[in-house]
Amino acid sequence: MSDLLCPHCRQQGEPVQITTVKALVLEEFRHLLTDGPYRLCQTPDCGIGYYGPAAPALHPYQLKAPLHFKTGAHPRYACYCNKVTEDEVFHTVREKGLVQMQAIIRSLRGEAQSDCRHKNPLGRCCSERFHEIIDRAKVHPDKPAKGDKAG
Ligand SMILES: [Zn+2]
Repeated sequence: MSDLLCPHCRQQGEPVQITTVKALVLEEFRHLLTDGPYRLCQTPDCGIGYYGPAAPALHPYQLKAPLHFKTGAHPRYACYCNKVTEDEVFHTVREKGLVQMQAIIRSLRGEAQSDCRHKNPLGRCCSERFHEIIDRAKVHPDKPAKGDKAG
């Protein structure tokens, strides 16, 4: 079952549907695609993105969106569908006091789109991680923004 492991870091990646891989790969690398199956390596320091037993591995730079769990990813999306970044979520929670995903997205983008299957690298809904980011922002709501008030 070694085909379950990333060819580089030897960690077990997450299974991902071919539809998602096809939607995420940049046009100029589409010729590398096979029918799969594919997995996604989530090891932060590993340079592999998607891989599979019958497919050449795809690197993060060959994809349309930065993989948020990889070291140096920029920007780090909290929601890939609406291109909302972790920083934007932090600011919206702290400055507007919004703590609901839909409200935060609407506040930033006017409306909320949902197409996780084709936009999120894992092909899954972003909401679980989005809420973790909201929770983290709530823990430090008073982090000084201007730095001019000494305790
Ligand atoms: Zn890897």
